[in-house]
Amino acid sequence: LVRLRQRLSRSQGGLGQGLLALLSRDRLDEDTWEAIEDTLLTADIGVAPTQSLVDKLRTRLRVEGGQTHDTRAVLREELIELVGTDMDRRLQVTGSDGKPGVVLVVGVNGAGKTTTVGKIARILVAEDLTVTLGAADTFRAAAVDQLATWGDRVGVAVVRGPEGSDPASVAFEAVKQGVDQGIDTVLVDTAGRLQNKAGLMDELSKVKRVIEKIAPVTEVLLVLDATTGQNGLIQARVFSEIVDVTGIVLTKLDGSAKGGIVVQVQRELGVPVKLVGLGEGPDDMAPFDAAAFVDALLG
Ligand code: GDP
Repeated sequence: LVRLRQRLSRSQGGLGQGLLALLSRDRLDEDTWEAIEDTLLTADIGVAPTQSLVDKLRTRLRVEGGQTHDTRAVLREELIELVGTDMDRRLQVTGSDGKPGVVLVVGVNGAGKTTTVGKIARILVAEDLTVTLGAADTFRAAAVDQLATWGDRVGVAVVRGPEGSDPASVAFEAVKQGVDQGIDTVLVDTAGRLQNKAGLMDELSKVKRVIEKIAPVTEVLLVLDATTGQNGLIQARVFSEIVDVTGIVLTKLDGSAKGGIVVQVQRELGVPVKLVGLGEGPDDMAPFDAAAFVDALLG
């Protein structure tokens, strides 16, 4: 939480502090409300959510403002409500009947998939779970090598095939090893070449189908780069048409002032943000929590 606060306050502190400063003005005139809207839109919260938040703030501050003067508390409550407290953000990483849980990690190249797989592996190992990684992004030798490096770093096995081999066969082999060895969780890194949507759809559905012959896919995590704004949203939509996404991992939140994308992408896909990436290091990942996120924004 401390790290979340530090990292976010560096990149996004402007949002919370900026809103607070505007809302604390003596007179909340139309210019001020417009500036508040601009601030929210700049943070990628989206048009409709911005409108509803501003409407609520206007009403509440008119009604309660005079009595309590606790603008910060009102803003905090409304932001938490907007980010959502009623979503189940837990990761389903274990299977049942002695089978491993399988987590498929999908997203466009460069979003941070491989790094996310490595960081999740580290978290699970720290929780005393056994983990195997599958390098199903077989078209990029560098991605496979990078995953292997993460495997060494975290101390878990990495199943890889020859360059250009069938991603589904590598994924199957990784899960099979997981089943045979009684592993708790198999994390599968996948390819993300969005240029060929039909090809990617075939590939990912085959990966999923083949895995499900021997163990349940318990999570499909979509990795999204927070710095890509609307472009990221379009990609998210495409991926959600390709596979049934169960959770979102928002990466590079440390380098983005657009944390509001959390709100938009959850609305867009109807699934929660479950994890956030806060840097390139092995410990730079945190479970997403609405209240902690808003507290970090407000500083
Ligand atoms: P992939 O192509 O989707 O597998 O993406 P990678 O895992 O290779 O990540 C692409 C780049 O983004 C790498 O340089 C990572 O170190 C970096 N990266 C990943 N996650 C984060 C994050 O949360 N914060 C920052 N600052 N960089 C990240």
